[in-house]
Amino acid sequence: MRYHIDTIPVWDAMKLDGECFLCALKRKTEIGEVEHYLGASVMEPDTRIQVNTKGFCCNHQRMLYALDNRLGHALLLESHVAETRERLEKACKSIKAAAKGASGASLLDKLTGKAPSVNKLMEDAAAALEQLTDTCIICDSINENMGRYLHTFFHLYQNDSEFRKKFESCKGMCIPHAAELLRVAAAELPARALPEFAATICNLETEAFDRMQEDVSWFCRKFDYRYYDEPWKNSRDAVERTVNKLRGWCVGTEPNPKE
Ligand SMILES: [Zn+2]
Ligand SMILES: [Zn+2]
Repeated sequence: MRYHIDTIPVWDAMKLDGECFLCALKRKTEIGEVEHYLGASVMEPDTRIQVNTKGFCCNHQRMLYALDNRLGHALLLESHVAETRERLEKACKSIKAAAKGASGASLLDKLTGKAPSVNKLMEDAAAALEQLTDTCIICDSINENMGRYLHTFFHLYQNDSEFRKKFESCKGMCIPHAAELLRVAAAELPARALPEFAATICNLETEAFDRMQEDVSWFCRKFDYRYYDEPWKNSRDAVERTVNKLRGWCVGTEPNPKE
């Protein structure tokens, strides 16, 4: 098998036997990225430029904030906000022009359909503002990494029979990642391999949902006094696992063990 640098993390994530190996990979990448931006390492100049342009989304601002390095966070913000201030200046020009256009079109232009609609103009004005903060360098980097991991996954699926066996007996994936696997499969697998792959995904997901359903029902029942003395079985973390299966990992124990 051709050596591939991403083979190890993909195998490691699969070996965790968790609810979604792709969520484990994504979370590992995410934590690494967040720590990188607030870490001691000096940022490369071109990364710095990208941080200034793209900034960080709400979710990743929250993770940066949670690392309790207020000065590091402020330094990231300082140059990003300076650049955003400049872009705001330009956006304001187009916002004002659009609003003026919305109020100033002549009745004749409006009647003949020559004037752009007020809705469209104000939509453009709102978009000019939104575009200032609709990018995130960490989200972009996660997507890039996940693209590589997915490519490696299909490489292993086709060339490493042990990996394939492990995948076919795993606990399934979260719904968003199962969908992603199907989408990427079209480009990564020969058409004749698609029926078997799709059937595997469907089997894994339906089995996983049977299990979730049983666990979450048992969890609810445990709050009924008649079941007080019954064992918890596999239901103690049923809420967390069910949420994570439905939407991708977002609550409960981290998908990767502490290093
Ligand atoms: Zn997932
Ligand atoms: Zn983000």
